Amino acid sequence: MQSYLKSLLEQRQQQALYRSRYVHHTAQNPLLQIAGQTYLAFCSNDYLGLAHDPQVKLALQQATEIYGVGSGASHLISGHTVAHQQLEQDLARYTQRERALLFSTGYMANLGVISALLTRHDAVFLDKLCHASLVDAALLSRAQLHRYVHNDMQNLEYLLSHSSALHKLIVTDGVFSMEGDIADLLTIVQLAKKYDAWVMVDDAHGLGVMGETGRGSLELFHLTQKEIPILMGTLGKAFGVFGAFVAGSEVLIETLIQFARSYVYTTALPPALAVATSASLAIAQVAHERRMYLHELIAYFRQCALQQQISLLPSFTPIQIVVLGDAEKAVAVSHALYQEKILVTAIRPPTVPAGTARLRITLSASHQKGQIDQLVEVLARSLLSIGAISGSSKTGILI
Ligand SMILES: *Cc1c(COP(=O)(O)O)cnc(C)c1O
Repeated sequence: MQSYLKSLLEQRQQQALYRSRYVHHTAQNPLLQIAGQTYLAFCSNDYLGLAHDPQVKLALQQATEIYGVGSGASHLISGHTVAHQQLEQDLARYTQRERALLFSTGYMANLGVISALLTRHDAVFLDKLCHASLVDAALLSRAQLHRYVHNDMQNLEYLLSHSSALHKLIVTDGVFSMEGDIADLLTIVQLAKKYDAWVMVDDAHGLGVMGETGRGSLELFHLTQKEIPILMGTLGKAFGVFGAFVAGSEVLIETLIQFARSYVYTTALPPALAVATSASLAIAQVAHERRMYLHELIAYFRQCALQQQISLLPSFTPIQIVVLGDAEKAVAVSHALYQEKILVTAIRPPTVPAGTARLRITLSASHQKGQIDQLVEVLARSLLSIGAISGSSKTGILI
């Protein structure tokens, strides 16, 4: 085994795909301490700065006094407390749905939903750039798996019209985690109606951030439970805590409680985390100023990048992407930024398709404009030094 694993690792290294972890000492914050040095980070999904919010921290501390730490068992045995029950009600209200069900992580929520709803007689239609957990979930369900070209509604329609599966489920990210763009939900809903398909949206990166009250991608398009019966959201990103949920009809939620194996066969979240999440949700719901400021920062970043002739994928979400192509190139730029005490991760295959390695910059309401100036200045210099921008030509700008 050792020599086989070593050969796998060597191969990864040769392809510039080897991953390693930064070890830092700090709360989620734009300034991270790594080995005694301060780094300015643009890679957290803590979009609203709630991961270190004093009220959320206090809620966690107080709830720990009441509930202790561990939940002790799964939800169906003895792990389900009033704290979990309250958070589920808060999430249902926040998403304007009949009910919500907590899962321990987003990965597990996706596995649980798709494998509970579909069998080998059914078909699942997945955007090619859907999150890895959705792909794994579709495989686990054993339904026929169809992947459509990213946001290509003609391709989706073609696949739907050629399917004779018993049940059809269309699955998409709301905001795409490695692109920053948004699914064409209005067309998806129309196609679902036309071909009698169900729709599931994973809005891990939309909730809390997009829409006037932070209800995510669905709020942008004014879509409700009727059009999008299955909504999945995570609690470890904009809400700054941990865990995930699915929201939808009473019948959907009861079905998941009975049949979602990643719900049934796992320990419930610590109850104090549920209390902290309720506190965070209450803040997120009225965090209009934080959201407006975040969107101002996004526009500011794009404007500064444009001035420096840095090509960005089209995106008005906090996820901003510089595609570089080669994994080596992406790693080189990320490394150059690191040398200048700026943290931006290189995203490489298999997380993104081969030949589209990229820098993923995430912005947060805890960033300041001066920090964006700093990022853009160093980024432009690093891109110039590897020849990724020419310094004068305007070609290749995708704004
Ligand atoms: C992060 C993420 C998940 C997984 O959520 P976790 O709670 O981190 O397991 C699922 N889907 C998308 C789109 C994500 O970005």
